[in-house]
Amino acid sequence: MGRERLLHHATRRLLLLLPRSRGFSSSAGAAASSREPLHVCVVGSGPAGFYTADKMLKGHEEAQVDIIDRLPTPFGLVRSGVAPDHPETKIVVNQFSRVAANGRCSFYGNVTVGSDVSVSELQKIYDVVVLAYGAESDRSLGIPGEDLRGIHSAREFVWWYNGHPDMCNLAPDLQSTDSAVVLGQGNVALDVARILLRCTSELAATDIADYAFDALRGNTIRKVYLVGRRGPVQAACTAKELREILGLKNVRVCIKEADLVTSTADEEEIRNSRIQRRVYELLSKAATAHKGNISNDQKELHFVFFRRPIRFLPAEDGSTVDVVQLEKTCLKDGVAGKQVAVGTGEFEDLKCGLVLKSIGYKSLPVEGLPFDNYRGVVPNLKGRVLSSESENGTVESGLYVVGWLKRGPTGIVATNLHCAEETVCILLRFL
Ligand code: NAP
Repeated sequence: MGRERLLHHATRRLLLLLPRSRGFSSSAGAAASSREPLHVCVVGSGPAGFYTADKMLKGHEEAQVDIIDRLPTPFGLVRSGVAPDHPETKIVVNQFSRVAANGRCSFYGNVTVGSDVSVSELQKIYDVVVLAYGAESDRSLGIPGEDLRGIHSAREFVWWYNGHPDMCNLAPDLQSTDSAVVLGQGNVALDVARILLRCTSELAATDIADYAFDALRGNTIRKVYLVGRRGPVQAACTAKELREILGLKNVRVCIKEADLVTSTADEEEIRNSRIQRRVYELLSKAATAHKGNISNDQKELHFVFFRRPIRFLPAEDGSTVDVVQLEKTCLKDGVAGKQVAVGTGEFEDLKCGLVLKSIGYKSLPVEGLPFDNYRGVVPNLKGRVLSSESENGTVESGLYVVGWLKRGPTGIVATNLHCAEETVCILLRFL
């Protein structure tokens, strides 16, 4: 069956089957007593969507929850975002499968909100609509050359090696260069750097997409540069993930000791945050550690601090990236927790044939839905959707939001549990 017919079929099924005992004319958000069925639609089947469904089913004994997703398969970020060498993080799908097996829960794949069905149509046929469709786009740097071949967002690369249907044809060129630059130093940056550097014999044991495994097995990349615009104290990754990449087999870690010098504000940040302290300690230790048994096929991981990308320059063919031009930075303001990177006017070139931009995910707006373009979230008050971010924003009846679409692209899978709790708690209070 062609994709169009499949979509059409799924949407028709959704619209015909879901209202069950309710008519299309009832108003969204109408009060439902504990004995009346409460029809809930959760848009998006990632962690935020499934935790919301779970909390709804437990919190309202008559709740009938339909989870819809634009993909034919459930689990969103757990399926397409979590790295294949982190199987322990994916175990949560067992819990989500138990939620899906609940007789009051259904999953409808291949239904795209915005094109197959609108938010207002959903509001007409459900008592409550909870938006949980996450962040499926990327922040951009907005610098010259960003469209050159060989430059991808980390999200695209992650979706590629995880077999996401939108990116299975990405075909990043991993065989024409020995150097890759990853821009950003958060946990996603560490994920993509680790997948590039990890021995393929270790990757073989994971659920990485077969085509990605084949491409990585033949890859020629020997050096990966992780570039941060601020210093080691401000690196956005967490200690566990940093320890893992620092301990990769057959990888030499390179950190300039001069970058580890701290200011008074840095010292205060280290005192105030256990995570920052652990990250800084690990980087300091790695800067001086020498791994024995250097072999010919050893790879290199370079942590580059105090550098921001200014432009990308093409190779002779005019279309493939060859150089990332970086500007040296220093930290301004000197107030702990608020130090920002400013350019010093000194520039340097970093040669590479692959760039992965890992500077944050971004949610996308859907027609008819209030959206804060600056923050990339749906304006909300603890999960209740507001018509606008301004003080005059009114509450949209029966419409809620959860996950990255509610609070921005931060936090681990479990963060969505607390986020869903907050949204469902307020939802049940306002029924
Ligand atoms: P992130 O943690 O927000 O890191 C973004 C990085 O990009 C930061 O280093 C940031 O630097 C940098 N950046 C942003 N704008 C930039 C610009 N214009 N120029 C240069 N650099 C820029 O985002 P993420 O890595 O995408 O991760 C998203 C969330 O998922 C995080 O909460 C993360 O912990 C979580 N996650 C967790 C795991 C795990 O637990 N294993 C795995 C993957 C993701 P500044 O700090 O200077 O802004």
